[in-house]
Order: sequence, then C-alpha cells, then structure tokens
Amino acid sequence: TPVIELINVSKVYVSGGVETQALSEINLNVHKGDYVAISGPSGCGKSTLLSLMGLLDDITEGCYKIEGVDTQSLDLDTLAELRNLHIGFIFQSFNLIDELSVFDNVALPLIYREQSLSQQGIADRVHKALSQVEIAHRADHKPNQLSGGQQQRVAIARALAGEPSILLVDEPTGNLDSKNGDAVMAILDKLNEQGTTICMVTHDPRYAGYAKRQVKLLDGEVLQDQSAEQQAKDY
Ligand code: ADP
Ligand code: ADP
Repeated sequence: TPVIELINVSKVYVSGGVETQALSEINLNVHKGDYVAISGPSGCGKSTLLSLMGLLDDITEGCYKIEGVDTQSLDLDTLAELRNLHIGFIFQSFNLIDELSVFDNVALPLIYREQSLSQQGIADRVHKALSQVEIAHRADHKPNQLSGGQQQRVAIARALAGEPSILLVDEPTGNLDSKNGDAVMAILDKLNEQGTTICMVTHDPRYAGYAKRQVKLLDGEVLQDQSAEQQAKDY
C-alpha cells in the first residue's frame, strides 16, 4: 500500500458565496521512501494539496487514503489520531517556543501524544531525533541562541520524534539565507537516504531539484509527475 493515495481528488473553496476550484481531479500516490517535490506558480494549489494530505482540511470530491485507511467521513477525533500517527509537519516558520529549551520543544508534542512512553522513552526519542538532524549538542539551548538553519533543524527533529509515516514540508527554506537553506536541504536529503518519506512543497526550482520525484502543478492540476531517473533519460 502507498503511504498516501489520492484518487480523483478535487478541492473547492467557498467563501462569501464565491467558489474557487483549488484542485481538480488530482491522482497521486506516495510510496515509502519517496522524496517528492511539489512545485508550480503561486496559486496553483500547492498549499491546498499539502493541507489535504496532512488532514488539515477536507477534500470536496474523490478519495484520500493514508496508509490504506480511507479518510472519508471520519470524525474529527479519528482524523486527529491519524494525523498524529502518520504525519510530521515542517513549515517555513519554525514555530518553536522561545521559553523552552531545544530538548523541551521536541519533547512537548510527545508528552501530549505518546502517553504510553516513559520519561526515559521520551528522552531517548528526543535525543535520537536531535542526533538525526545533527543538533544534539544544542539540546539545552533556547531557540533564540540558534541560527535560523539550526532552528529549522530543531523543527525537523520535533516532527521526526513522532516517528511519522511521512514528512510534509512546506517551503522549508523560505525564511533562510542560501547557506542555511542548503544545510536544511542536505539534512532532508540524508533523512530520505535513511528511509524517511518526504513530500515537500516549494516554488524554488533549485530546491525542488533535491527531490527524487518532481510533481508540477498548474491551475490545480498535475502538469507533470516525473522521477529524477525519467528526467535524466528524457535529456
Ligand atoms: P499555492 O500554495 O500554490 O500558492 P494555494 O493552494 O494557496 O496555492 O491556492 C490555490 C487556489 O485556492 C488559489 O486560487 C487561492 O486563491 C485559493 N484558495 C486557497 N485557500 C483558500 C481559502 N481558504 N479560501 C478561498 N480560496 C482559497
Ligand atoms: P550553522 O550553519 O552551524 O548554524 P552559523 O554561521 O549559521 O552556523 O552560526 C554559527 C553560530 O552562531 C550558531 O551556532 C549560533 O549559535 C550562532 N548564531 C547564528 N545566527 C544566530 C542568530 N540569528 N541569533 C543567535 N545566534 C546565532
């Protein structure tokens, strides 16, 4: 089973009596180990697609399955459970809590969600996640003592600590200079090589190029869906 399966998915927003077709009949499967970049011009539906995949908003038409579970007509609690179980989010803004240490920022969602874990179990998960993004040596620092790139790595660790089936990443380098941006992309690359499934939205073609598979949207439709190998062959 694919981690994520969208079958003829459409999304229509209605606000103030005006309908906007944000996505039209999207078909997309993401498999374990994939690294997908979703790109396209502003307004093409990238954020909408990511929020549907992350169960942050409901689809208007079609079918969305995550790890084989059809998400249609599930109640909000069940959706939240599925989201906590399967999805790790990384946003452009790091959304770290300034008053908490790096360690506590990563531990906090685990304390809420994984009530079966002991204190030691949580500490082990946090240290593992911080090590994966090469920031374990800063566990006792506060976010404002870190560079932007380091803060984003902490946000990635926070997502990883929940051991999600897939990382959904929205413009991860949007708030970073190119040096820090490259460092964050290198970490995502390494995580994917180690088996993490990633779906990343970016408008920056340079960063999209890091992914193994390129999905391009235009006006709410999939214009192109190509693996890096295919692209190389086409040249
Ligand atoms: P992108 O992320 O590629 O810039 P979006 O997914 O944000 O594109 O937007 C796709 C389309 O849906 C755009 O036409 C946008 O104006 C519209 N849209 C996005 N969010 C909403 C919303 N909450 N209400 C109404 N229209 C929206
Ligand atoms: P790195 O890519 O390893 O983060 P940087 O040159 O960005 O290297 O940062 C070097 C050190 O300077 C960082 O480890 C961090 O402690 C500190 N630093 C960088 N930027 C900031 C900032 N905006 N605010 C506070 N400390 C910073």
